Amino acid sequence: MQTVLVAGGAGFIGSNLCERLLSKNYRVICIDSFITGNKENIDEFTKNKNFSFINADITSSSFQSNDLSKIDYIFHLASPASPNKKSPRSYISFPIETLLVNSLGTYNLLEIAKKSNARFLYASSSEIYGDPKISPQKEDYFGNVNPVGVRSVYDEGKRFGESITMAYFRKFNVDTRIIRIFNTYGPRMRADDGRVVSNFTNQAILNKPLTVYGDGSQTRSICYIDDLIEGLIGAIISDLTSGEVLNIGNPNEKTILDLANIIKKMTNSSSKIIFEPLPEDDPKIRKPDIEKAKKLIDWNPKVTIDHGLQKTIEYFRGL
Ligand code: UDP
Repeated sequence: MQTVLVAGGAGFIGSNLCERLLSKNYRVICIDSFITGNKENIDEFTKNKNFSFINADITSSSFQSNDLSKIDYIFHLASPASPNKKSPRSYISFPIETLLVNSLGTYNLLEIAKKSNARFLYASSSEIYGDPKISPQKEDYFGNVNPVGVRSVYDEGKRFGESITMAYFRKFNVDTRIIRIFNTYGPRMRADDGRVVSNFTNQAILNKPLTVYGDGSQTRSICYIDDLIEGLIGAIISDLTSGEVLNIGNPNEKTILDLANIIKKMTNSSSKIIFEPLPEDDPKIRKPDIEKAKKLIDWNPKVTIDHGLQKTIEYFRGL
């Protein structure tokens, strides 16, 4: 039986990954500090004998006192990820923690990967492309990031994380891969983290106004969580991804105003749509080029936006 370390395993993506790994008969060690992760996300796994949990911050060295010597795979998903300054869970609320978890935290996990000869996957982000000047974004695009803007703690944190991951690949032959995750949604998103899908869905369910920022003409391409998880596992088990960078996301691009209308309709909501100021440095467009993931790991998103949103609406209604 192989052992997988999931840093950030109590978060939205991390907990869905733990669940899938357990169902595939891996032994899972989940680490989380609950800055933005949620204990409820992992409660049901604690009954599984193949699941163990370490309550720790990967930027502190104390978590390494646990026996982490026999690890086969490491997923680094630990980081605040929401840019919404209105949310107490956003990376704007945790700027230093965000920088450190992607720099020092990545370093600490890469050291474990080096010592235990584990495969390593760094969860990067489409944010490293900043406000892109080309679309769709391919992995060889260098991006357009404001290095001192409010979003820079995340963008530059992720860029540093990518850089140190490549340094360990080049200098120590650690078997690394970098996955640039594009907007993802689905069950176990936090209701309060201020992301567009969770905000619109919860507002629509409660018949409160849907808050579109700016004029809603900015675009995003949203990927359902199950598709992303397939991509993450596919990437870490593949020999072809060693030292590579892959975009994982759904190229189905929509304007934010269209998304508001779709969610309003699907929830039969009487909510109005209201317009609020666009946040600083909010990217105008975002759409992944996924040819590389298709070619290297035969990955393609399969879940339609209707099905994915239906599942997400059911989840938030059930909370
Ligand atoms: N957004 C919005 N209303 C909300 C939350 C977000 O219009 O209540 C917009 C936000 O300005 C951005 C897009 O939706 O253009 C996606 O925002 P999110 O915070 O989900 O993630 P991002 O892609 O910006 O990291």
